[in-house]
Amino acid sequence: MEKIVLKGLTIPKLEDFVLSIGESKYRAKQLYNGLHKQNYYSFNQFTNLPQSLRNKLEEVASIPKIQLVKRLKSVDGTQKMTFDVGNEKLVEAVWIPSNRGERKTICVSSQVGCTLACAFCATGLLNFEGNLKTWQIIDQVIQIEELVGERATNIVFMGMGEPMHNYFSVVSAAHILHDPEAFDLGAKRITISTSGVIPSIERFIKNKEPFNFAISLNHPNPSTRGTIMNIDKKYPLEKLLKTAKEFTQVLKRRITFEYIMIPKVNMGKENATRLIKIAKSMDCKINLIPLNTDFNGWKRPTDEEAQKFMDLLQDANVPVMNRKSPGKDIFGACGMLSLKG
Ligand code: SF4
Repeated sequence: MEKIVLKGLTIPKLEDFVLSIGESKYRAKQLYNGLHKQNYYSFNQFTNLPQSLRNKLEEVASIPKIQLVKRLKSVDGTQKMTFDVGNEKLVEAVWIPSNRGERKTICVSSQVGCTLACAFCATGLLNFEGNLKTWQIIDQVIQIEELVGERATNIVFMGMGEPMHNYFSVVSAAHILHDPEAFDLGAKRITISTSGVIPSIERFIKNKEPFNFAISLNHPNPSTRGTIMNIDKKYPLEKLLKTAKEFTQVLKRRITFEYIMIPKVNMGKENATRLIKIAKSMDCKINLIPLNTDFNGWKRPTDEEAQKFMDLLQDANVPVMNRKSPGKDIFGACGMLSLKG
């Protein structure tokens, strides 16, 4: 009989489990704490449980661990870890300390590969090999914190994969990361992103999830966005923007639009004008990200080009930031995760 994985289970799920093996309900909280706050990997570490229960758990349950395969350190302090999540399936996660050191972000992966093949993204070139389970997502955080010896202040679901194609595992992981009885990170310190999977965004709104939310927009023109993002053919820009607006109105929160700057593709004056129109239509901020890959003969914008585009938005009083994603030398920057380096 296959052993049940306890890491990544919520307290109600753990209660069902302990009752199913004839134990008292209160044991669920003890298990939850050991798994998600103490980061135990062996039932022997649960010294608050009787030996007889530990033996029983050993027989029917497991606490698996994703395995570190490679660790790369960038000159700018970023670190990229490659993990085997089981059966030799590899994902990457990135540790990103801010310049002044007060912000320490872990960027986690949610899928092995990705089905979407956005034209600027190296992950999209990998074979898709499946969704990660909740435990495989939170284990990226546990292991990176152990490796670097520091706690993360922020988590972003912006690594490999489309998080909203793995809704249940991603949102469950976010809840465990947020839970004061587990990782205890503020909901505003957890950001989930999507390239635009509308039904999942609607579900997120309906469930009133408390986490930050980002949409990878990348082109403001409805007839052109589909040329760089396949997903636009299924979930078109105009409908996506309507859903984004609904997010801001129903949840009364600001939404973030990520915008990869690609010279000659989406950095013209008319692109800025459309982007400003979008930004003025709802409570949002724009994160600009200079292109990090070189597909299709594209080039990264120069600092001057990036600044010029940003100025157009700033002059129109749009809240905008240039997120110069670090870790380029280790293939750890935005759009570069592809098991290279
Ligand atoms: S940008 Fe995100 S959704 Fe698009 S291919 Fe890359 S990992 Fe997938």
